Amino acid sequence: MDQAIEKFFAWAPWVIFAFIILAAYLATRGSSSRTSSAQTFACAQCGKRGARQQMVSVEHEGAVGWYCAHCAAAQETEVSATSS
Ligand SMILES: [Zn+2]
Repeated sequence: MDQAIEKFFAWAPWVIFAFIILAAYLATRGSSSRTSSAQTFACAQCGKRGARQQMVSVEHEGAVGWYCAHCAAAQETEVSATSS
């Protein structure tokens, strides 16, 4: 019985430590996702603003530009038309 209590107190600090690390990880992850979702990018083609998830990064002459889904599709068809 005493041995079981001894084992519990030997492990308890590590379990609490693990919970603190997990809580800190979840807190930082939650705040970072909140800031990234609030961040918006303007379309380089039509100027329409959208969330990062809705935008498509297009590399053009070494510079990365952000396009909305509509303009990115238009750019892709344009590139494939000129290359073929
Ligand atoms: Zn656009």
